[in-house]
Amino acid sequence: MARVALVTGGTRGIGHAISVALKAAGYRVAANYAGNDAAAQQFQAETGIPVYKWDVGDYAACEAGIAQVTKDLGAVEVLVNNAGITRDAMLHRMTKEQWDQVIRTDLDSVFNTSRHVIESMRSKGFGRIINVSSINGRKGQMGQTNYSAAKAGIHGFTKALAFEGAAKGITVNTIAPGYIATEMVAAVPKEVLDTKIIPQIPVGRLGESEEIARAVVFLASDDAGFVTGACLDVNGGHYMAT
Ligand code: NDP
Repeated sequence: MARVALVTGGTRGIGHAISVALKAAGYRVAANYAGNDAAAQQFQAETGIPVYKWDVGDYAACEAGIAQVTKDLGAVEVLVNNAGITRDAMLHRMTKEQWDQVIRTDLDSVFNTSRHVIESMRSKGFGRIINVSSINGRKGQMGQTNYSAAKAGIHGFTKALAFEGAAKGITVNTIAPGYIATEMVAAVPKEVLDTKIIPQIPVGRLGESEEIARAVVFLASDDAGFVTGACLDVNGGHYMAT
């Protein structure tokens, strides 16, 4: 029986590519989203992947949403924590609301979803949790204390849960994308991209969502059973961690 994969923020951008790639690899995929119904309906019509609307920052909503996915498709064996937002501002101008929104959506969400799949993964003796962080959680970024903190927090969560899951066949890993050609990056003016960002990327271009999706498919696979607690940087050489 095909394994069940849940992709948060799975209807747009990088998540869209991850959902499609997992389906192509033979998984039964559920794609979660927050509020953009038009994009979600179009995604479902185009891909045939069922969509589930809930806020990953809301613990009770995650419990209910994952219960529904489990009822419809079966217990989640592959969880991809991809949903994320930015609310950029220099710290001296950042509001408490901007801080809270990003921590809630980008970091609390990882607990909220993982908590509701971990028990069934432990009972099955198999699980894959793949957390989408960011280059800016690795190296820091001006105007992103909230985002860099949330994304760096994901790395600590990943390593701690990797210890807990190891004896139960559960791997937990992080992927840290560099600058990927999605709507999030399309919002950056072309001149800034051409003069400030792309020159810092040794490969000389933005990444594609499909390049992140292929890394997810590998980490979800049986072939990746010995990879846990790791961070896979997919950034064109933009930041090479020691
Ligand atoms: P997009 O903004 O294109 O898509 C975000 C997706 O997440 C959408 O499906 C959105 O749903 C969903 N989402 C947002 N908030 C919530 C929420 N509270 N509950 C449930 N779903 C939510 O983002 P990207 O594809 O650009 O980014 C995906 C991930 O990759 C993020 O974690 C981001 O931080 C990370 N990343 C992206 C990089 C890039 O260059 N783009 C670089 C490094 C990391 P809806 O459609 O309903 O709004």
